[in-house]
Amino acid sequence: MSKLPNVTTSIFTVMSKMASEYNAINLSQGFPNFPVDERLTDIIARLAKENVHQYTPMAGFPPLMEQIAQLVQKSYGRTIRPETEILVTAGATQGIFTTILALVKTGDEVIILDPSYDSYESPVLLCNAKPVRVALNDDYTPNWETIGKACSSKTKMIIINNPHNPTGKILTQDDFSHLERLLSKHPNLLVLSDEVYEYITFEEKHISAHTKDFLLNRCIMVSSFGKSFHITGWKIGYSVAPEHLMKEIKKVHQFLVFSVNSISQAAISQYLEIVDVNLLGKFYQEKRDYFQKLLQNSRFELKPCEGTYFQVASYANISNDDDVTFCKKLITEHGVAAIPISTFYSDHKDQKLIRFCFAKDNFTLEAAAKKLGDI
Ligand code: PMP
Ligand code: GLN
Repeated sequence: MSKLPNVTTSIFTVMSKMASEYNAINLSQGFPNFPVDERLTDIIARLAKENVHQYTPMAGFPPLMEQIAQLVQKSYGRTIRPETEILVTAGATQGIFTTILALVKTGDEVIILDPSYDSYESPVLLCNAKPVRVALNDDYTPNWETIGKACSSKTKMIIINNPHNPTGKILTQDDFSHLERLLSKHPNLLVLSDEVYEYITFEEKHISAHTKDFLLNRCIMVSSFGKSFHITGWKIGYSVAPEHLMKEIKKVHQFLVFSVNSISQAAISQYLEIVDVNLLGKFYQEKRDYFQKLLQNSRFELKPCEGTYFQVASYANISNDDDVTFCKKLITEHGVAAIPISTFYSDHKDQKLIRFCFAKDNFTLEAAAKKLGDI
């Protein structure tokens, strides 16, 4: 019997594959199509000839861990100890999986907000624990009342994703006040904060779990250099957690991967000395604004986007098809790939909404918008 009977091929794989089969413009799976910063490619080319090809220490390459600590200090004013509170991971995906495997036990419950990214539920199930899906409000803000009602003595963890994939929503100070009250009622509840888009926010500033004192002792924050440096294929990220939790997480990491590939770690440690992550928000805000402008006369209705590189759009004016069918036809009949939002819901709720990735060069955005505008 399958341990994950309901898991099928990820929608990101399905849509990207279909996009390439039909030669469609791929705005589905979230990855940039523009060149990586030459300073980073120069660093890795130079490092290829140096002695950086063997195992790093299990938890990470020490100079990279030092740079991550400095980044967190600079960005959020939080002091973390590299040797005990940081883990370098093979992308945030491994950070999430490893954290859940290490901390969630049989019979525990884990709150996952609907809609949500696809990496959270399976590790919970593999722990013989129960994912408890709680719907976000219609405007994608958390419904703290229903979250509160869903929490019990069995609830081990709540997973938050801020900025949020697929909706682009970000959490407010008010949300964090609610979270603080919730945690005060449930002293054993942990928070897994997926902040892979932490540097991609627009009008409003990102509020990181790092800045909240009430979270420091009970939160695991995961991030990804894939998003911040346009290198999703490098599969490299990091987690930050208090020592008593990180000790457990490292026990699993040790046997899941032992250590992450050395040359990427060395390259990113050097790149972090020169790169300014604060430029990323402005860069993607321009992309978002340009993409929205290109689509303003189309029949798609664009939803607000506060962060991430995803734009949610309603096609209710265009078709009555369910969103999966609509996305397939969008590829085969119109040459553009997107992601159906229903796939982020446990009950596959169809709301005639799809997600476009705007992490693309302007030429690609223009070509896609031309096709979308003709529908
Ligand atoms: N969390 C979210 C919300 C994501 O969108 C993604 C993927 N892009 C990940 C985690 C996984 O990140 P990585 O590619 O670093 O594993
Ligand atoms: N996070 C990416 C997205 O939301 C997908 C990554 C993947 O394919 N696993 O599109």
